[in-house]
Parts: sequence; structure tokens; C-alpha cells
Amino acid sequence: MPRLTRRIAFTSAALLIAASALYAQTREWKSGVNWPEPKIVTPGEGTAPPSDAVVLFDGKSLEAWKGADGWVVKDGYATPTKGDIATKQEFADCQLHIEFTTPDEVKGEGQGRGNSGVFLCGEFEVQVLDSYENKTYFDGQCAGIYKQRPPLVNVCRKPGEWQSYDIIFHAPQFHADGSLKRAATITVLQNNVLVQDHFEILGDTPFVRAPQYNPKVTKGPIKLQNHGNPVKFRNIWIRELAAPQV
Ligand code: MG
Repeated sequence: MPRLTRRIAFTSAALLIAASALYAQTREWKSGVNWPEPKIVTPGEGTAPPSDAVVLFDGKSLEAWKGADGWVVKDGYATPTKGDIATKQEFADCQLHIEFTTPDEVKGEGQGRGNSGVFLCGEFEVQVLDSYENKTYFDGQCAGIYKQRPPLVNVCRKPGEWQSYDIIFHAPQFHADGSLKRAATITVLQNNVLVQDHFEILGDTPFVRAPQYNPKVTKGPIKLQNHGNPVKFRNIWIRELAAPQV
């Protein structure tokens, strides 16, 4: 082959390789997954619930709750006088928003100061406590998963100031023989700060014994505890979530 022809052939081949490399770099990669279109949700103005939330307490009525006779609703908040309250509707996987204050009149200490609790499935307690300059066992302080896991940080506001929990909860799943297939998980933001990071819940959260799972409990009410302290609650809403694929 004449030298000129060889050079042209070599240059053409080099250009072709460079062009195909460039094409490969600029060509869009697609996953091939045919996703459904995410539905439109309108965010709430300020602290109002988003458009697809189930409102559990709007500051006026506890009609979504059982046991409400023992609680008082006034000035846009609810506070206990007798017994716990639990939602009439049961929930499994969910996103829950709730606002609370511990009493501005500081009384008692440790577990006796501003104690209440938010229970998922009726039996997994995110502790509510006045943990502002009030020491107790760490897995029993505010935003702890009671007797299982302390909060990552103590981000409590002062007594009497409104605080918020935003909770992402996935209910436990069980095999047909009742053995645990997937532990419940919980993520909690307190006052917009991460305090529980996808924690695998160990079981229920009683005072008197170690945690254990009940395979019958795969959903349940949201329960608010009366621990004898006038903790206030307002602006409670929930969004049901899909269960994770195991
Ligand atoms: Mg409690």
C-alpha cells in the first residue's frame, strides 16, 4: 500500500475510534425501569398539613380519637386529664407529624417532668419528656425509643415552647409461623433535627420487661400517653406509606 494511502487509512480509523468514544460519552444512559408518574401533592402553607394527609387533630376536635373524654381541648391544643387517647383508625407504615409542649410550669424531675409519649402501632413509644436541663436514663429521655435507643442529640426546646416530631415509621412484618421477617424501623426528626436514624425497633416498649414483638401487631392506632403531666399537643397529621419490599 502506498505510504499516503496508508496514512489516510490510519487517520480515518483513528477518527472513527475517537468519534465513537465521544458518542458513547454523550449518549444518555437509561435505567429501563418504567416508573409510574409521581402523584402531585400540594404542600401545606406554614405548618399546615399537605394535601394528601389525614388530619388527626386540627386544634378543634378529637373526634378521630378514642378516649377523648379524658382529654381537654382548648385554645387550639389538647391536653390529658385522664387516660390515653388512641386513633380510631389503625395505621401501619406512615409519616406522622405532631407538635407538643412540655408544661411551662416546671414540676418534678427525671421521668416525672413533662412525660407523655407517641406510640406507633399502639405499642412502640417515642418518648415525650421535658429533657431541657432534666437528666434521666438516656434511652428514656425525650425522642428516645423508650428503653431501646437514646436520641442522637438532645434538641429539646425550653418548657412551654412548641416542638415538633416528624416520624417515618415502617411496621414490622412476620412470617406465617409468627417469626420476625422484618423489624419495624423508625426515623424521627425533632424540631427538624435528626434524632433517630432508621432505627430497627427491638419490640414493644413497656416499663416492666424487655422488648418483644407480637406477630399479631402489624398495624395499630397512634396512641398518646397520659403520664399525669399536662403536656399539650396540636397539629397532628399522618400520611400512609407503602410497606417496603422485603
Ligand atoms: Mg412516656
